[in-house]
Amino acid sequence: MVQVINAFTVDVEEWYHAELIRQRQLPVEPRDQVEEALEPLLAMLEETGVRATFFVVGEVMRKHPALFRRIHDLGHEVACHGMSHRPLWTMSEAELERELGEFADLYDRVLGGGRPTGFRAPTFSLNQDTRWAIPVLREFGYAYDSSIFPARTPLYGVPGAPLAPYRISAADVRREEPRGPLWEFPMTVCTVAGLRLPVSGGAYLRLWPYRLVRRFLRDVNRTRPFAVYVHPWELYEGTPKIKGLTPMERMATYWGRRGGLGKVRALLRDFAFAPMREVLQTWAARVNSNNSHKEAHGA
Ligand SMILES: [Zn+2]
Repeated sequence: MVQVINAFTVDVEEWYHAELIRQRQLPVEPRDQVEEALEPLLAMLEETGVRATFFVVGEVMRKHPALFRRIHDLGHEVACHGMSHRPLWTMSEAELERELGEFADLYDRVLGGGRPTGFRAPTFSLNQDTRWAIPVLREFGYAYDSSIFPARTPLYGVPGAPLAPYRISAADVRREEPRGPLWEFPMTVCTVAGLRLPVSGGAYLRLWPYRLVRRFLRDVNRTRPFAVYVHPWELYEGTPKIKGLTPMERMATYWGRRGGLGKVRALLRDFAFAPMREVLQTWAARVNSNNSHKEAHGA
């Protein structure tokens, strides 16, 4: 069996960008920790020779340009996670355009040319109500988006969306547009007894026992690549604890941090990974050759 190459992604934001914390009363000048929080992960990727995709919040890149030059020089993909980490459902079209314009300038200035080709909406906020963002992403030259969460969760989700990467329709985010210009790499869910269960990132990865994660992801790899996503703040024990969260919110934000890096190490040992852009190129080539095969046989 050919080994499937999966996408390893990191959403690079400060601890105070996380949705459940953002809504709370924060210190006037919250302390930045992204550099120290990312170090162990960067070392682990280097040690295992894995290149990943870093979806970066523009504000963070502006404050730490040297960090992102280094990430870029190590061969990782630098992609866009907005400028301010505001979810799409709090923005207008003009505000997203302004953020993407600022991000493109910053990318060019910090990384010495080129442009980002991948986008992930903060808080997986692309859904039917915010699909106006799709033409905006195309206008800014993005080749792919990775914001659809194809399951229902308390904060976000598009339960009926496809599970494998697809060309997303601007008229209905759950539909495929056969020759559409923008690819979507949805977050990975596995299907158990008809239920869609997220397993490969954030709180889900922290909470599931690793041996189940591995079994579920091996199952996903029978038919498609998966995407892992982690945040620096959830792999770091120094992340400040904020008061006033409900028990559920506390669990989603803080539980399992101690074991987070160990799970990442296990994933890197058990599966093959590449930046999302490359995983999608391979997938698109496979889909195209299947289609031309079908056309040639009149199907
Ligand atoms: Zn984020």
